[in-house]
Amino acid sequence: MAVGSAISSPLGPAACDKDAKALQFIEETTRNADLVQERVLAEILARNANTEYLKRFNLNGATDRDTFKSKLPMITYEDLQPEIQRIANGDRSPILSTHPISEFLTSSGTSAGERKLMPTIQEELDRRQLLYSLLMPVMNLYVPGLDKGKGLYFLFVKSETKTPGGLLARPVLTSYYKSEHFKTRPYDPYNVYTSPNEAILCPDSFQSMYTQMLCGLIQRHQVLRLGAVFASGLLRAIRFLQLNWTQLVHDLKTGTLNPKITDPALKETMTRILKPDPEMSNSISKECSKENWEGILTRIWPNTKYLDVIVTGAMAQYIPTLDYYSGGLPLACTMYASSECYFGLNLNPMCKPSEVSYTIMPNMAYFEFLPHDPNSAGWTTRDSPPKLVDLVDLEVGKEYELVISTYAGLCRYRVGDILRVTGFHNSAPQFHFVRRKNVLLSIDSDKTDEAELQKAVENALQLLKEFNTSVVEYTSYADTKTIPGHYVIYWELLVKDSANSPSEEVLSQCCLAMEESLNSVYRQGRVADNSIGPLEIRVVKNGTFEELMDYAISRGASINQYKVPRCVNFTPIMELLDSRVVSTHFSPALPHWTPERKR
Ligand code: AMP
Repeated sequence: MAVGSAISSPLGPAACDKDAKALQFIEETTRNADLVQERVLAEILARNANTEYLKRFNLNGATDRDTFKSKLPMITYEDLQPEIQRIANGDRSPILSTHPISEFLTSSGTSAGERKLMPTIQEELDRRQLLYSLLMPVMNLYVPGLDKGKGLYFLFVKSETKTPGGLLARPVLTSYYKSEHFKTRPYDPYNVYTSPNEAILCPDSFQSMYTQMLCGLIQRHQVLRLGAVFASGLLRAIRFLQLNWTQLVHDLKTGTLNPKITDPALKETMTRILKPDPEMSNSISKECSKENWEGILTRIWPNTKYLDVIVTGAMAQYIPTLDYYSGGLPLACTMYASSECYFGLNLNPMCKPSEVSYTIMPNMAYFEFLPHDPNSAGWTTRDSPPKLVDLVDLEVGKEYELVISTYAGLCRYRVGDILRVTGFHNSAPQFHFVRRKNVLLSIDSDKTDEAELQKAVENALQLLKEFNTSVVEYTSYADTKTIPGHYVIYWELLVKDSANSPSEEVLSQCCLAMEESLNSVYRQGRVADNSIGPLEIRVVKNGTFEELMDYAISRGASINQYKVPRCVNFTPIMELLDSRVVSTHFSPALPHWTPERKR
């Protein structure tokens, strides 16, 4: 149905009946947020009453908030590790959930260097699907005519493993794309992808990207929106086009498929789609062969109305680059989700990235909030636990850490995200994503904290010992000017014997030693996903970090309390550091990574 004959809904005129139902659902759920939350908690507690975990806290069948809040502690992943390990090892008794754990979702958050394993149950797929089904009805309120074309989305599956007890362990999106929910989704004119399922589901990342790009080029005039999950993914696709466009236009011109595409199902599908089109091939070739790639996305896909990528949180660093390649197309951040639970959606997806607020959907899980004081060091176990606030009782302008209780059995679990309340939609609060706690460096889905960076530096230092050289100070920077981005570590060295100073070879080995010691998500990004470039060490002149301190003090830092920032991104500081660089070194090889977990 055209927008002209739109059906009214409280959020705006719905594009079709299906959308009207989805918008109505959003309205009702957010209007009754507190009731929905109460019901969700009661459902979770009732169905899991006989789990080993809940029995431990003597709820005695109670399903009300007060009892729950008075008896259950707030926990982190590390607290649950013994239970998770038992489930992974094959214990099928109801430990966290009475519904069987169907698989583990491997989070990009790590514990002891490995991805966290999030237990999930079959029906969670329905909840995820439900949240996905709300996204286009909201988008259709703002962008008319999306049923007249397609979306070019770069979507990928990643490797999966089995736990010792035989449960699958894989990222949440891999689980979703491989599910029947996704594979046999009913046709929806507002949500048609250019990529065939065979391309999305191909486990080889080159073949998957190549064929998704080729399909996007073949249907270039039909493409109305371009996307990937995160901004880094879309930039990787642009880089891929830069590296592979000559072969792609050759395929388009001749109607023959690159012989590197060997996956049988994918080959068959592509043979059906690919037909010689010399005219199309020529016009793409003309654009790609130009030196200047500014605005390339709109030159190749001229009907694109917006880019659908997350550019909030750590991904905000990619906004200028996306603007450059797209000529400033709107950036839509549609949802906020995690392996633990899908949280909510952006009800105003065409707003500016800096104004994005996500509305948590109260039906997804039971949500509580730990007040967060940006100026305090944080709550420690020695303090009496602060009171957790309920979803509908949050205050606008305040920051909170998200704590969730899920149907799969996580109870009062700290996700690690800091959110600021920006307002309410009905009685459901809306949040600006402030940051994830303890993340120093991030390029793609990798998250490196201060302790991991410190350990990596210490690891590399071992190689400098025989040169009687130490690192006086260091800091770091996520350099996203290159595609893929890479970690830069600034080192100030103390070389005690200049006749025996470390060579270029040794310093580049130091880069690799650091990479070897970083967590498995980082190493997977380097090795399997090619989403992170080689780590770089920039050696700076002696005295540079003292200058850095002088600069900070001149801007008001306390001399007694000054600490070297372990990560920098403030332009004057970057300029200072870069002007003092005496040598640069890159990791000469890939670190080790296999899908298998160490533990
Ligand atoms: P994972 O468990 O690996 O799926 O990562 C989930 C985490 O990614 C969340 O807890 C957030 O820290 C981050 N994240 C997910 N969606 C968004 C978003 N829309 N904006 C900013 N960060 C996000």
